[in-house]
Amino acid sequence: METAFILYAAKEIQQAILTNENTLESLDRAIGDGDHYINMKRGANAIIGIEAELAQLSPEAALNKIGLKLLSTIGGASGPLLASFFISMAKQLPNNNNDHAHLKFVHAFAAGVQAIMQRGKADLGEKTMLDVLIPVSNQWLLLAQQNHDVAFICSSLITTAEQGMLATKDLIASKGRAAGLGERAIGHIDPGAKSCQLMITAVCNLILKS
Ligand code: ADP
Ligand code: MG
Repeated sequence: METAFILYAAKEIQQAILTNENTLESLDRAIGDGDHYINMKRGANAIIGIEAELAQLSPEAALNKIGLKLLSTIGGASGPLLASFFISMAKQLPNNNNDHAHLKFVHAFAAGVQAIMQRGKADLGEKTMLDVLIPVSNQWLLLAQQNHDVAFICSSLITTAEQGMLATKDLIASKGRAAGLGERAIGHIDPGAKSCQLMITAVCNLILKS
C-alpha cells in the first residue's frame, strides 16, 4: 500500500460521507444526538486539509498522522475510536515482514479493529460500528489466506459490510448513546455502522475501478 493510495481512499471516503448527509444525520438523530454526520464530515475534511503534508510521508507515518488528526478534530465517541483504528494500523503495518503486501494490510486492518474493541470495550452484536468492522476484518483475513484475487475480495467485503450494517437494525444497543434506549433502538440502523459500511464500500469500489 502506498501513501498515494491512502490519499485517493481518503478522497473517496470524504465523498461518500458528504453524499450521505441525510442518511447519517437522521440515523444519529433517531438513536443518538444527531451529530454523527457533522463529526464524520469534520474528520474527512481535516484529513483532506493536510493532504500535501501526508503525501510526503511513508504509509505508516501517514496513517498515524491521520489518527492523530482525527483525535484532535472529531468530537464524540467516534473520534477516539476511529483515531485508535488508524494509529494501531500504522503501528502494525511495518510488522509481519514475511507477509506479502496484501496480507500485511489485512493484518494492519485487523489490529485497527482490535484497538477499537479495546478502547470502546465492545464486541460484535452491541449495535456499533464493530458490527461492520469485525465481520469485514474476519472475512478479509479468510479470503486473503485462501488466495482469492483482490477483485473477488473487494466485492465480497462490500456484501459483508452491508450485511453487518443491516444487522444492527434488529439489535438492542449495549454501548454508546443508544444503550439508554433499550428496545426503542430496535428498527434503527446504527449510525457508526452505516458510516463504516460507506467508507469500506468506497475504498473497495476504488480498488475495483483501478
Ligand atoms: P457520539 O455517540 O458521542 O455522539 P458519534 O455520533 O460521532 O458520537 O458516533 C456514534 C457511533 O459511535 C455509534 O453509532 C457507534 O457506532 C459508535 N460507538 C459508540 N460507542 C462505541 C463503543 N463503545 N464501541 C464501538 N463503537 C461505539
Ligand atoms: Mg452522536
